[in-house]
Amino acid sequence: MLSRENVTREALSALEAQRAANLMEEKRRREEAEEKSPAVRELIARRQKLFFSGMRGAFASPDKAKEISANMQQEMERLNAELRKALNACGLAQDYLQPVYRCRECRDTGYVGEPVHEMCACLKRAVMNRLYQSEGLQGLERENFAAFDESIFPDIPIEGRKSTQRGYINKIRKRCEEYADSFDTGEGKGLLLCGKSGLGKTFLMNCVAQRVLERGFSVVVISAYKLIETMRRFQFGEDGSEQVQDMLACDLLCIDDLGSEPMLRGITVSSLYHIINERRNANRAIVVTTNLSPEQLDNTYDQRIGARLYDTSRMQIFEFIGEDVRRTKR
Ligand SMILES: [Zn+2]
Repeated sequence: MLSRENVTREALSALEAQRAANLMEEKRRREEAEEKSPAVRELIARRQKLFFSGMRGAFASPDKAKEISANMQQEMERLNAELRKALNACGLAQDYLQPVYRCRECRDTGYVGEPVHEMCACLKRAVMNRLYQSEGLQGLERENFAAFDESIFPDIPIEGRKSTQRGYINKIRKRCEEYADSFDTGEGKGLLLCGKSGLGKTFLMNCVAQRVLERGFSVVVISAYKLIETMRRFQFGEDGSEQVQDMLACDLLCIDDLGSEPMLRGITVSSLYHIINERRNANRAIVVTTNLSPEQLDNTYDQRIGARLYDTSRMQIFEFIGEDVRRTKR
C-alpha cells in the first residue's frame, strides 16, 4: 500500500495543478467575455485603472489612504454592478468573471479553518480514494458499466426460470447502475449481491464503486479478507487505525467476498458487526458481495449481522444465478 504521506503529497500537487487550471479558465472566460461585449471590455479596463490609481494614491498620500480606499471601494462596487449587467446583456452569467474553484470550501487549497488549519473534505476524499485505488480498487478502471459485456453470459433459460442468464444479469446490471447514479450520502441504502462464484457479483460491485467514485464520493473497496487482516493489525496495535477510520467514515464501503475471510476468534465477527452496525447507525451505505446463503451467513457469524445485511428497508438484495461464466469462458 502507498504511504499516506506520499498520497497526500500527490493529492496536494493535484490541487496545485487545479489552481493553475483555474487561473487559465479565469483568463479564458475574461477573453471570451471581452470578445463578446465591448461594454464588458471597457468596464474591465476601467476597473483595473481604478484599482491602480487607488493604490498609487494611497502610497502617495498615506494620511489620506483611508479616504481614498473608501472612495475606491464605492466606485469599484458601482463598476462591478455595471459589469454584472453587461455580462447578463451578452448572455453570460452574472458571476462569470468571479474566481473559479472546484471546491468552494477550501478554494482548492486543500485546507480550511482559522485558526485551526484542517484538511478540507475534498482533500480527505482525494487521499482516501488514491489510497484505496492503489490497492483495493485494482482493475476498477477496467471494471465499469461501459465495459460490462453481456455476451459472456449464456443466453439460455436458467433452470426453473423464464429468464435467460443474460436477461437476468442485465436486469441486475440496470438496477446497480440506477443505484450508483442516484447514490447520495446520508441515505444509508446499500446493496447485497449474493450467489455462487463466477456470476459477476464482484464485477458489478466494482462498476458501482467506480461510478460512485466518479460522481465525487469517497469509496473504499476492500476484500473481506483484507478487512479482517486490517482489523487484526489494528487490534494488536500494529497499525491500521487510519484504514479503520476510512472504512467507517467513507461515503460508500464495498466489502468483497464476505465469507472468504479467516475466522479469527474475537476479531472476525465482532469487527464485521462493528463496521456494519456503525455505518448503519450513521446512515452510511455498504455494498457487500458474498457466496453465502442467508442460513450460512447466520451460521458463520451471528444473527445480528445477517439481520442487518438482509434488512430490505436498507438493502437491495440481488441473487445471482446461473452458470459460472469464468468456467464456461475457459
Ligand atoms: Zn476543498
